[in-house]
Amino acid sequence: MVHARTQAMRSEASRAEPFDGAAFVLVGVAACGACERALTGQEHPSGRFYACDAAGGGCGVVRVAAGPLEDLVAERVLAVMTAPQTRARLVELGQTNGLDALTAEAFTRWWQSADGPHRHAMIVLLLDQVRIAPALGGRLAPVDVSRVAFTWR
Ligand SMILES: [Zn+2]
Repeated sequence: MVHARTQAMRSEASRAEPFDGAAFVLVGVAACGACERALTGQEHPSGRFYACDAAGGGCGVVRVAAGPLEDLVAERVLAVMTAPQTRARLVELGQTNGLDALTAEAFTRWWQSADGPHRHAMIVLLLDQVRIAPALGGRLAPVDVSRVAFTWR
């Protein structure tokens, strides 16, 4: 039984969905710090990962647990978008989306209630790239902020 389910999950993962907005909000912006290729979202029985896919032509060096990386990016997006220096950007963002004055509080509320596809859309709008440097402490070392470089649009 367990074996059959693992098999099913494997074939699920190998079908290589280009983007599952609910599951992998960073697909499209997450990039390998070693070879520059886009990281793919991977779902395994052991968890969700963003990885440089060697089978897809990448170097395979970078692989990080998805949850902690997504939390780290979410934290940074909120911090940057609610900083006083970003006020003009926020107003512009509100206007292009038909809102009068998008405040830091409103953005925070929106972000916290947004589902995967909406967060993904916002991340792509704000960030050109989130580059993950290879881990010094082994392939599956926890991702920390020192390994992540943000390129804002
Ligand atoms: Zn790579």
